[in-house]
Amino acid sequence: MSLSSVFCQDKAIGILQRAFAADKLAHAYLFIGPDGVGKFKTAEQWARMLLCNNKTEHHTPQGIFYDSCGTCRSCEVFAGGAHPDFNHIYKELIEYTKGGKGKTPLDLPIDVIREFVIEKVAGRPQMSNATVYVVQEAERLNQASQNALLKVLEEPPKHCFIILICNRIEKMLPTTRSRCQIIRFGPVDAEQIVKQLGQIKVEPKEAQYWAAFSEGSLGTALAWAGLEPKGKSCYAIKTELVSRFADYPLTDALDFAEWLGQMAKKISDAWVDKLPNVSKKDINRRTQTGLIRMIIAALDDAMKMCIGNDAVFVNSDQMNEIEKIAEKSDAEDLAAKIAGAYVNLEWVQRSVNERLIFEELLLKYAGCGNIIGS
Ligand SMILES: [Zn+2]
Repeated sequence: MSLSSVFCQDKAIGILQRAFAADKLAHAYLFIGPDGVGKFKTAEQWARMLLCNNKTEHHTPQGIFYDSCGTCRSCEVFAGGAHPDFNHIYKELIEYTKGGKGKTPLDLPIDVIREFVIEKVAGRPQMSNATVYVVQEAERLNQASQNALLKVLEEPPKHCFIILICNRIEKMLPTTRSRCQIIRFGPVDAEQIVKQLGQIKVEPKEAQYWAAFSEGSLGTALAWAGLEPKGKSCYAIKTELVSRFADYPLTDALDFAEWLGQMAKKISDAWVDKLPNVSKKDINRRTQTGLIRMIIAALDDAMKMCIGNDAVFVNSDQMNEIEKIAEKSDAEDLAAKIAGAYVNLEWVQRSVNERLIFEELLLKYAGCGNIIGS
């Protein structure tokens, strides 16, 4: 992996390259964009280039493209995941702070920022000419953490570069924003996602679905398509989910909710093996969000069908089922049901009990009203 192999983010990387060539690199950057479009990959490979002791230079029509060499000591250590001048900051580091053992934080705790950024930032580089801090999920920095970071963002040591990665700019305080240079990362084209999925041998029909489902988030598409829950692929789960939904509410809501719970467990278990650094709670949330988004996508497709415009359907592989859902409803009703499902998505973020979320969603859909209020 190198900077030139980061996928479909030429514009963002171009901005960084031009600043580097002109010796005008900012010391604090805010990478903004949806999840899974390559913000972290770019930050990581940009760091590897900055730390490389033998940078390569390719002449391109847009100017010189600097990249890491891949063979110097710095690059080798970087590839091994233990470069002393590269600091990956994420909320689960709380485990390694004084007094943080056993905690599973929702926010990016101030102790992590204090012990892994503020207290370390003045230190000299050990292997390269720079130090780089990449703060993941900066949208989870609460006000206290952001305030603690301000001074570092304002006057970082000359050798130090800080990159905040964030999916929601409104979560960043104006004071944080104004101290960083903002680089925007756009969604990846569906066609490009299909192509990438093809390279990991995902069937075309399946690839089309994940590309549309992920709305330009290559990371999301790769994660779902590449997951192997025991006994059933995520794609098989999604097709069964849409089929069940099409026959709904003939099926019993509580049975359906139980099935969803079983599938959520299968998917989360498969994810735990793949993402050892992510907390179980976060994995469950990711799974629940995905399953509810599959339902929303099906309702959304049915609404598009009711309206009758020639939109692109996420479930183009299950148009018969979408038709069944559309037949039972009209656009207005579907819009209300979609809005209802979004309420359940919020519950996921608030860590409401999983079974309750699925049951409420399905009972509400079947017209049994809001059973426990929102
Ligand atoms: Zn190198």
